[in-house]
Amino acid sequence: MLRLLLLAQHTQPALFGGADGPLGRGYMGHLTGSISAITLTDPAGAQAFACRMLERGVFARRRLRPTDAALRAEPFGNIAFWLDNPSEARNNVAAIARALATRLAALAGQNGQLGLHIRKFARAPISAAVGLSGAVFQLLYAKLSGGYPGAVDLIADASGAWRLCYHGEQMRNAHNRVRLHDARDSLGLPKLAIDFHMNDADFESVLAAHEALDADLRASGLGALRFDAGRAETRAAIASAARDGYHQLGGAAMSADPSAGVVNAQCRAHDVENLWIASSCVFASGGQANPTLTIIALARRLAAALAGRA
Ligand SMILES: Cc1cc2nc3c(=O)[nH]c(=O)nc-3n(C[C@H](O)[C@H](O)[C@H](O)COP(=O)(O)OP(=O)(O)OC[C@H]3O[C@@H](n4cnc5c(N)ncnc54)[C@H](O)[C@@H]3O)c2cc1C
Repeated sequence: MLRLLLLAQHTQPALFGGADGPLGRGYMGHLTGSISAITLTDPAGAQAFACRMLERGVFARRRLRPTDAALRAEPFGNIAFWLDNPSEARNNVAAIARALATRLAALAGQNGQLGLHIRKFARAPISAAVGLSGAVFQLLYAKLSGGYPGAVDLIADASGAWRLCYHGEQMRNAHNRVRLHDARDSLGLPKLAIDFHMNDADFESVLAAHEALDADLRASGLGALRFDAGRAETRAAIASAARDGYHQLGGAAMSADPSAGVVNAQCRAHDVENLWIASSCVFASGGQANPTLTIIALARRLAAALAGRA
């Protein structure tokens, strides 16, 4: 989408605020990684954060997020945290076997559920065997990959802690910019030149959010974070993990002000009457969440508005 807009601007240089205007600026991604472990005063409560199957093929897990009020008051961007198994637990066959045994025991104790499964197997051995091999595949996959796909119990490390992972917002930065490249692709169109960097403000934001979570956990007596290293090394670890190349956001931001954005609140280009944009390039900020749902929500809203006009 950005390339199409840049090509249009190349033909008509005054479009979208001109060469020094907002088009192509504020290209963003997300920061993801893990810099700490979390301990909980009530360790049993950790299972509420385990990855669970909601329905066939649909997995979900609870995450921890700052409240809207905290996001407004505190000096950090949006972020979400989730608990994961420590790598030693992922590789610890005995721990996984223990977790499986616990789950089987729980299953057997559920009002004859185990007997029900055995009866199902007897009635439809082929589909049951297919289901069973699928479950074995999922378990193997979860073991090898450390998580997906599958419902995986959370297993603490020897010190009673779990990994805490994060997915955080990258701050909008006008210097992160997409332009047309001199080189051409196989169709003869200019390639894109992308200036994309995460900077100190992004790393500091992630670190500050962890520190706020740690302070909250301690103040409420619910638990604590244990950082892998001191502050400087932790910042460096955030920087080295910040290699987002898959959540392309921004570049044709939404803004009421044509000098600050390419589209208005209805996703219509400020200076092209019949051009509407459905893409993550209209995001004015990155947030913490994976973008697809928001892209779809904006696209559906736009589709309804266009259908209304038609
Ligand atoms: C590896 C990977 C994993 C991801 N995982 C997730 C995830 O788990 N969850 C999530 O929410 N998001 C995820 N994303 C991000 C998400 O896919 C993107 O943010 C989203 O697809 C962006 O949508 P878009 O419509 O803006 O751009 P795109 O999906 O890139 O769509 C642009 C479209 O324009 C077309 N196009 C380009 N040039 C032209 C042209 N000249 N003429 C005509 N058509 C053209 C392209 O063919 C393409 O169909 C992932 C992305 C990647 C790469």
